Amino acid sequence: MSSGLQTSGLVEKTPLERYVAPAMPSLVGLARPALADALAEVGVPAAQRRMRAQQIWNWLYVRGATGFDQMTSVSKELRAALTEKFTLARPEVVAEQVSVDGTRKWLLRLPGETPGERPHEVECVYIPETTRATLCVSSQVGCTLTCSFCHTGTQRLVRNLTAGEIVGQVMVARDRLGDWPEAKPPEGAIVPTDGGRFVTNIVMMGMGEPLYNFEAVRDALLVVADNEGLGISRRKITLSTSGVVPNIARAGAEIGCMLAVSLHAANDALRDELVPLNRKYPIAALLDACRNYPGLTNAKRITFEYVMLKGVNDSLGDAKALVKLLKGIPAKINLIPFNPWPGSRYECADWEQIEKFSEYIFNAGYSSPVRTPRGRDILAACGQLKSATEKLSARERMALRAMAMTD
Ligand code: SAH
Ligand code: SF4
Repeated sequence: MSSGLQTSGLVEKTPLERYVAPAMPSLVGLARPALADALAEVGVPAAQRRMRAQQIWNWLYVRGATGFDQMTSVSKELRAALTEKFTLARPEVVAEQVSVDGTRKWLLRLPGETPGERPHEVECVYIPETTRATLCVSSQVGCTLTCSFCHTGTQRLVRNLTAGEIVGQVMVARDRLGDWPEAKPPEGAIVPTDGGRFVTNIVMMGMGEPLYNFEAVRDALLVVADNEGLGISRRKITLSTSGVVPNIARAGAEIGCMLAVSLHAANDALRDELVPLNRKYPIAALLDACRNYPGLTNAKRITFEYVMLKGVNDSLGDAKALVKLLKGIPAKINLIPFNPWPGSRYECADWEQIEKFSEYIFNAGYSSPVRTPRGRDILAACGQLKSATEKLSARERMALRAMAMTD
């Protein structure tokens, strides 16, 4: 545990890069040119590579093939050659939990561990709703940053996921949900019955700081967004960052996804404490990067995440400062009830206070949804965004309180 880490004023930990590529690499997550290179390795002539790469792409991302033997439109010889050198492996699912509300959480084990070392594990959470279903995806094992309210920030083991491991989370979700043309959903699963998509939205809000693993996250999201494959459009992909300013512009230019910013405080002194990266990239620089994010309109706004910490950042003065700060930026403000963890030094703001805070922001013209707890019974870490004005039901309020008490 990390109170040492948290009080030392450390902005970043050094990543412990221990990724060792498996002897037989997986083709999952490779961009088309890299897929063509893999084909070159097994002797496919240059003139055929693009076409063959397209075939494999289709088998992987449209049909969900898990083995080369299923690729019946590919010659037997090529299938055999590919089997010798490559796999279509996804991250290994070591546990699956299903909540009464349909939320599913998968614990994934990743390669790269040496004997005696803690395994590399990440979580991936599926949150179905009536009109959409969101997959919360991780970008790193642990996180190099040290936000004082975040459990992930206290983990020492950090490694970047590969693009394949990031795309692999989407593949695992679709495998487990039976969301491929020839597959069937598991008994009792809450999935669309109208022929709609099982995973409609992606949020990079699992473990890790996606903008500190920029290339892999970018390459993965471009595969996920490819409309001849998984086809989840950039508008439905939201990347959440604690404020890695130089890479915000890159995310806009090179990925073009939606942006969420973990703001959590309306002044530098407090944000320095909550999100120590603020000492490197203070609020003014962060908001400049936000203002310059490409394509912002009222229909395409930046989401500002704001974790509600009792007596720390939850006063109406804070709400007022927040509104003032975001003036002129097309923004939504997402209030997240603090999720306590063993040893955390904060408490969740009182519900009444969250409601007042939300109301103030709403009256100032911002949508201010409170991220409501989902999958509480399985402790799924990722929340789900709810619509602006919707009041929580009594049951949800109770769940919120229970969450604050029991986690
Ligand atoms: N590293 C990225 C994305 C992962 S965290 C980021 O920080 O934005 C996803 C969201 O969960 C962030 O807004 C983060 O601040 C928030 N979060 C982390 N720990 C939390 C906790 N204990 N309770 C509530 N929200 C938390
Ligand atoms: Fe890392 Fe995000 Fe947690 Fe901060 S909140 S420690 S950036 S995962």
